[in-house]
Amino acid sequence: MTPHILVVEDEAALVELLRYNLEEEGFRVSAAADGEAALAAVAEDKPDLIVLDLMLPLISGLEICRQLRRRPETRGLPIIMLTARGEESDRIRGLDSGADDYVTKPFSPSELVARVRAVLRRARPALAQDSLGYGELVMDLAKRRVTREGRAIHLSPTEFRLLQYFMEHPGRVFSREQLLDAVWGLDAEVEPRTVDAHIRRLRKALNDGGKADLIRTERAAGYALDSKPY
Ligand code: CA
Repeated sequence: MTPHILVVEDEAALVELLRYNLEEEGFRVSAAADGEAALAAVAEDKPDLIVLDLMLPLISGLEICRQLRRRPETRGLPIIMLTARGEESDRIRGLDSGADDYVTKPFSPSELVARVRAVLRRARPALAQDSLGYGELVMDLAKRRVTREGRAIHLSPTEFRLLQYFMEHPGRVFSREQLLDAVWGLDAEVEPRTVDAHIRRLRKALNDGGKADLIRTERAAGYALDSKPY
């Protein structure tokens, strides 16, 4: 299940930045540029979480928050409020608008994504992505277990992280260097060909029993989890 995030913000550049970063992390994103559009969007296609700017034309973010809290069908809808540094954030805390969390501008997109995940985890544990699915592959992040067609696949911690990274970005091709950074970390002194060795082992474990190869090698580019699992 893909969590749906509604971004309510009148600054188009910020909307696009948030859209890009949230979609990159696997969320579905819709946007509204003012308060009326936001309320209409919520009525039409209820999101799992709203990122709501305080300073909006027509109806303020504070008022939208209050309206949503008054309605039974949106009372529990998680809201993260965006506020400008300074008086608004103090004011909004004082007024207890009912938002679940606040993020003060300027913020980094990764900080916002982390807050979104945290609020979703609290509000809707089922949406917090405790597992990843890809075709017949299922990765249980809490139990650190992987199955393919229900059969357990045994992976080393490194291969598990490698597969998790692929499953979070299915179909995308990553170079050895990108995989090194993402899975081993920037500081790790690991040779690019180490990646090849781990890919080989991961592939062998995944394809055990003569199953279709799920990892695609892109000549001179890198590796991807194949975008067509069936
Ligand atoms: Ca604004």
